[in-house]
Amino acid sequence: MKKNNTDKNPEKTLTPPPFSEKTLKDLAELLFPNAGVPPSLPAKRIAFRIAPSPTGSLHIGSLAMAFVNRLLADAHKGVFFLRIEDTDKKREVEGGTENLMRGFDQFGIKFDEFAGKQSERTEIYHAFAKQLVGQGHAYPCFCTPEDLEKSREEQIAKKETPGYKHEYAVCRGLGLDDTKQKLSSGMKWCLRFMSDVTQARVSWQDLIRGEMSLPYQENNFVILKKDGIPPYNFAHVVDDTMMSTSHVVRGEEWLPSTAEHIQLHRALFSDEPSWHYAHFPVTCVQENGNKRKISKRKDVFAATDWFIAQGYPVASIKEYILTLFNTNYEMWRIANPTNPYTEFDFKFENIGTNSPLFDLQKLDYLSREVISRMTKSEIRELVTEFGITDDKILLALEIDRETQKPRKDIAKWSEVPEMFDYLVTAPKTGKNPIVKVYLDNYKTFSIREEWFAWVKSLCIEIKVKDLTQAVRVSITGRESTPDLWEIQNILGEDEVKTRLRRCL
Ligand code: GLU
Repeated sequence: MKKNNTDKNPEKTLTPPPFSEKTLKDLAELLFPNAGVPPSLPAKRIAFRIAPSPTGSLHIGSLAMAFVNRLLADAHKGVFFLRIEDTDKKREVEGGTENLMRGFDQFGIKFDEFAGKQSERTEIYHAFAKQLVGQGHAYPCFCTPEDLEKSREEQIAKKETPGYKHEYAVCRGLGLDDTKQKLSSGMKWCLRFMSDVTQARVSWQDLIRGEMSLPYQENNFVILKKDGIPPYNFAHVVDDTMMSTSHVVRGEEWLPSTAEHIQLHRALFSDEPSWHYAHFPVTCVQENGNKRKISKRKDVFAATDWFIAQGYPVASIKEYILTLFNTNYEMWRIANPTNPYTEFDFKFENIGTNSPLFDLQKLDYLSREVISRMTKSEIRELVTEFGITDDKILLALEIDRETQKPRKDIAKWSEVPEMFDYLVTAPKTGKNPIVKVYLDNYKTFSIREEWFAWVKSLCIEIKVKDLTQAVRVSITGRESTPDLWEIQNILGEDEVKTRLRRCL
């Protein structure tokens, strides 16, 4: 039968070398003398996970993924676990894992399980790597970085897409004797995947993007680095299988390598992946009319610590993440202004594939709404936790709360001290003799209406509005403040009188 892979895709270089079962077994033993057999497969279950790398502080993108995975796990009645992907030692920072844990904790993200760190799972990876070599699906490569660079340049010169493939996959056909000889001369090796099927494309059903397919990955990609540690591809496939993940919900930056992951899964487990893939759009910012990814270097808010330091309530951040990632969330919120977000039905179908734009003004707007819905005691607790303990300020924050039309003037707690600085120190104000009549007749009222009636009675030649505004400016230094009568009560009679007197 005629095969349709001809010159450009010569079959001879894509078929595994015809080594006997015995040779492959010996090769596996030679490379992994201490590795055992892979553990048996765990039972299936519904499980979501987040798998961040400990490369700094918690990124807003990772927080969003974690929060959304938690919601989806709950919606599917599954578990949600955390796995630390620390196989890239070059990018790891000290305390990175603790930073991530602290970050998730600060935002109230709960995990049902902790699957540990990948760096502690080398034995399992080696067991599977040995199995792959024994089955002719992987082989050692002794090429140096210089060899690889030379080959790359050659392919580029020939206008080919560079890769370790076809005639350039020079270590692919190394037999047992050659391998032994290279090992005994101390040459370092990595393990490469033997791409062995000349299939045109790899397809899968993506829960966010629908039917997807990519060209079959002909590159004999690395599955164990020279230090014996797997890169993301191999660790992902082994771990998500052994941890019984049912949904791999991850960023779209992993889309291009999905073919690799599926091919690896087929070789390892003779089957399609046991999970659904869902590739999330990456959150961007607008810069000079273009969209770009959020950058740790350029955007202060890339690290979630910033939101905590600014005093954004956790609920506001969650509200914003929901708005970014479910297209119908805002409509739901309008229809259900006071319901907890947990009543919202977060669905894959409503995620959308366009990169959402992260916009701090929008966050501030939503946060004002969220704070306006909080009770007095919730606000007191959060503000105190933020470090604001001045009694007068805490009282002022209660003005116009728990009402039909609550105040919407605060987006984050860091705005509070400046907003109410006049409660702590008397403001510098100019002369304002209108207030004399107010001062001369001053009385304290415990009922606002009575106070207002009294103010009206003082206004014989001036407008009530002008007098109250003059009093406001004289005692607070501000054109606008929360309810004046309340502010006066907080300041107390003596202080109000002192401040008014200074304006005469
Ligand atoms: N460590 C990967 C990342 O941080 C995990 C991707 C995944 O969820 O599989 O992007």
